[in-house]
Amino acid sequence: MQTPHKFSIGYFLAALAALLALQVLLAPTPPRLSYLEFKRALQAGKIERVVISDELIHGWFKPEAVAAGQPRAFVTVRVPDPELVKELEARGVDFSGHYESPLLKTLLTWVIPALFVVGLWAFLYRRLTVGSGVMAFGKSRARIYAEKSTGVTFDDVAGQEEAKEELREIVEFLKNPKKFRLLGGRLPRGVLLVGPPGTGKTLLAKAVAGEANVPFFSISGTEFVELFVGVGAARVRDLFAQAQAKAPCIVFIDELDALGKARGIGGVAGGHDEREHTLNQLLVEMDGFDTSKGVIILAATNRPELLDPALLRPGRFDRQILVDRPDVRGREAILRVHAKHVKLAPDVDLKVLAQRTPGFVGADLANVVNEAALLAARKNKNQVEMADFEEAIDRIVAGLEKKNRVINPRERQIVAVHETGHALVAAFTPGADRVHKISIIPRGIGALGHTQQLPTEDRYLMTRQELLAKIDVLFGGRAAELLVFGEVSTGAQDDLRRATEIARAMVLEYGMGETLGPAAFPRVRPRFLPEPWGYTPDGTREYSEATARALDLETKKILDERMAHVLQLLRDKRPLLERIAALLLEKEVLEGEEFWRLVREATPAPAS
Ligand code: ADP
Ligand code: MG
Ligand code: ZN
Repeated sequence: MQTPHKFSIGYFLAALAALLALQVLLAPTPPRLSYLEFKRALQAGKIERVVISDELIHGWFKPEAVAAGQPRAFVTVRVPDPELVKELEARGVDFSGHYESPLLKTLLTWVIPALFVVGLWAFLYRRLTVGSGVMAFGKSRARIYAEKSTGVTFDDVAGQEEAKEELREIVEFLKNPKKFRLLGGRLPRGVLLVGPPGTGKTLLAKAVAGEANVPFFSISGTEFVELFVGVGAARVRDLFAQAQAKAPCIVFIDELDALGKARGIGGVAGGHDEREHTLNQLLVEMDGFDTSKGVIILAATNRPELLDPALLRPGRFDRQILVDRPDVRGREAILRVHAKHVKLAPDVDLKVLAQRTPGFVGADLANVVNEAALLAARKNKNQVEMADFEEAIDRIVAGLEKKNRVINPRERQIVAVHETGHALVAAFTPGADRVHKISIIPRGIGALGHTQQLPTEDRYLMTRQELLAKIDVLFGGRAAELLVFGEVSTGAQDDLRRATEIARAMVLEYGMGETLGPAAFPRVRPRFLPEPWGYTPDGTREYSEATARALDLETKKILDERMAHVLQLLRDKRPLLERIAALLLEKEVLEGEEFWRLVREATPAPAS
């Protein structure tokens, strides 16, 4: 939308400043006298005329009293002086009072600020309405992003082979809708890409358009939230009208959950109704348009469980494609895609980097490459070296290093003992991941220290033993605190939460409890997507109160046993615990090798 005459707060401020400056310039202040100087001049009979106002006295010297070229006018600040009038009279000075028109004063103190406020309001209002297109009611092209060709291909998306495979069919269809129909192909209207943030959903949608070489219309669900009544629905209508005119093409609705939240979930007063209208319009449009024309609707969400079930019905987003976190090979492939744009030193091993980044999504890995390149540039290198990547990963793993943040010595001590506890338990627990690094450098928000373990491979299956090992390592922090300081801190919050989650999953999902036998118990949590297994759809529980209690007890038993075991383990290693903690306190970071050397010195044959 074009606004021919743009109103800007900048202009307004500039005009105001100019006005003030003009006022100052047009009224050059005469030389200032002190009151004493004024009185002396008066008594010396040098003054011809004065004008007395509330605060100032403006005066003019007699022509003969000033040297040639000197100004005759002067000004002085008025002080309480009851004798002044008498003296002026006595010296025959022409004097008068000054009446200041209240108009100017009012103008300055009331009208201008009021104008300013109104101006500011108008400015903000404009911005809001221009942004959301109220002005162009119903015909808003403002935020529908139309790209003729995205230029993204499947080669740009790495590590999502299954998702790409599923989307290939859609590409075929878009390339030649007629042929596809003749062959009797049936296609979904809507495809929903589901997966955690940063896994490449948006990228995939663009790649589909790019591969098929069709236009790409995109709009984000979050943008509807801020709209005024009626605009969201109008925009949806507009989007589909445009798309149908340009078919074959792709309509992409990013962050569908913001728009398609199940009715009744959340929603602030006001915004809620509007979202519902928009959602209804979307459903109407999806049902109404003719698929054979070749419009494919893609949507992305990372919160599928929030979606209104109506969106997932046949004929709407009835096909879901999982875009999951990449595994180690996927991560390597993603790193390779992004590393194409930087100059790598020969020592860079993307495979090792992929191993070091379990849990990273595509966006994180893109960030790693970018950060590493920046670090190398900062050090004036002409290649990005392995060390740069390592540092970039360190930074991204736990937020930027905040070396200058002072935590008090007592806290540092607790953190050192806590982290050493994790590391030692990991060292003496068969099946635990290998300790790679211990650090007490505070990073980012929340994490005071961390112990980094390196899984040797991505795991899809875990044994009971390995799950217990995970719980043990998580408990190591708190157990060490308890042993050394005799009290516990809040630092173990996240550890405890994760340990509990594991124990609960063991009992509920993996049938690893002792008394309940090999059975799985669905969690009680509303979920709308057909999960493979494990969640009941509507929040009802399918087992008895007694079973629920037994499950809780099983979970608690596992946790209690593990804590007791870990406490005993660390009690046996107490001297080593304290030695390593002290060293960690001193050096802030212990590399894996150094840690293992200390462990080996203390025990001839450590467990792993
Ligand atoms: P999502 O939409 O799932 O949140 P995006 O598609 O916006 O994630 O990804 C953000 C960025 O991360 C992309 O622009 C790309 O640079 C990078 N990225 C994410 N996933 C991948 C991937 N699988 N392959 C290559 N790059 C990726
Ligand atoms: Mg996205
Ligand atoms: Zn911890």
